[in-house]
Amino acid sequence: MIENENEIIAKPDLKTFSKEQLSEYLEELGLVGYRSDQVFQWLYQKGVTSFDEMTNLSKDLRAKLNEIADIKRANEFSRQESEDGTIKFLFELDGPEKYKVEAVLIPDFYDDGVAKRITVCVSSQVGCMFGCSFCATGKMGYFRNLTHGEIVDQVQAINELSEERFGKKITNIVYMGMGEPLHNYKAVVESIRIISDPLGIDLSPRRITVSTVGLTKQIKQLAAENLGINLAISLHAADDVKRNKIMPINESLNLEKLEEAVKSYFFQTENPVTYEYLLFDEFNDSEEDARNLVKIAQWVPSKVNIIMYNNVAGVELKRVREDRLNRFMKTLVKHKVTATVRRSRGDDIDAGCGQLAIREGQERGKSLA
Ligand code: SF4
Repeated sequence: MIENENEIIAKPDLKTFSKEQLSEYLEELGLVGYRSDQVFQWLYQKGVTSFDEMTNLSKDLRAKLNEIADIKRANEFSRQESEDGTIKFLFELDGPEKYKVEAVLIPDFYDDGVAKRITVCVSSQVGCMFGCSFCATGKMGYFRNLTHGEIVDQVQAINELSEERFGKKITNIVYMGMGEPLHNYKAVVESIRIISDPLGIDLSPRRITVSTVGLTKQIKQLAAENLGINLAISLHAADDVKRNKIMPINESLNLEKLEEAVKSYFFQTENPVTYEYLLFDEFNDSEEDARNLVKIAQWVPSKVNIIMYNNVAGVELKRVREDRLNRFMKTLVKHKVTATVRRSRGDDIDAGCGQLAIREGQERGKSLA
């Protein structure tokens, strides 16, 4: 805060500025381009929380920035570690509400125990308004969007831990934590730009996946951004009747509209899409469901991730049994669908997205359902 004689003016948080806005802001203070790059790097690559830590800036400049600007940061609040190496973090956001969001580090190891792939799953919103019936976050309702800075903070902090613990940087990022990323479009796109910036986290966009329940307008908009990232569709049911039952968004944006958006996305980007399909016992795991999924997988070049559900307290849908999973997979394979089964990780911690935040006492917000 800056205190004037009669009023208190909030200082701008530099992490709410895009890279261009940051550069313009600093230029107005008389700083040349490379200085702005240095500040950008301190903010996002090193994750500093004060201007005093920006040691390659002059003392006067640091004092000036202290006076007129601010740096907010989402800070780690708690951590749960699973026996399989998965680590679930709860981050507390700045602000009087002390909102908490989750992020997860999921390591895959070579046989000799060396980390091969280190995936980070990040949150983009506090809660979510889409109310999918199987989702712990959906049960919370929606509170607010994260800023792009708060999204990058999760990645930056976990990347630091990854380097410390595994001796290497994170390798992949999935926007599959709390919230619907395309419902917080601007901040998510800006966070992707920062994450893939060599002065930010410096991760190739090909290693970033944004997952959506199927917000068709934003899918087309994303195609036009030409970011080079991967798109995943949270499908979870392969006909409108079943999808309506578990995903309220399908009532307004049904499979026909989704098909149109996915085709338009592929036409523009030439990138295959991924379908995420949680297989629930005796709900969406029949022979007919598999055949419907085959048809969807043929809309454009694609692959399917069959995900084993982590049962969530209070949710009737349950994880599929192995015999039904095998039968379902056989049908997909017979029809030449590229499909992988994803076993859930972190079963011994609160692994379903949103569970940890709910346990920490998050109340209920706005919801479609
Ligand atoms: S699955 Fe995704 S879109 Fe649906 S309620 Fe959960 S966070 Fe929201």
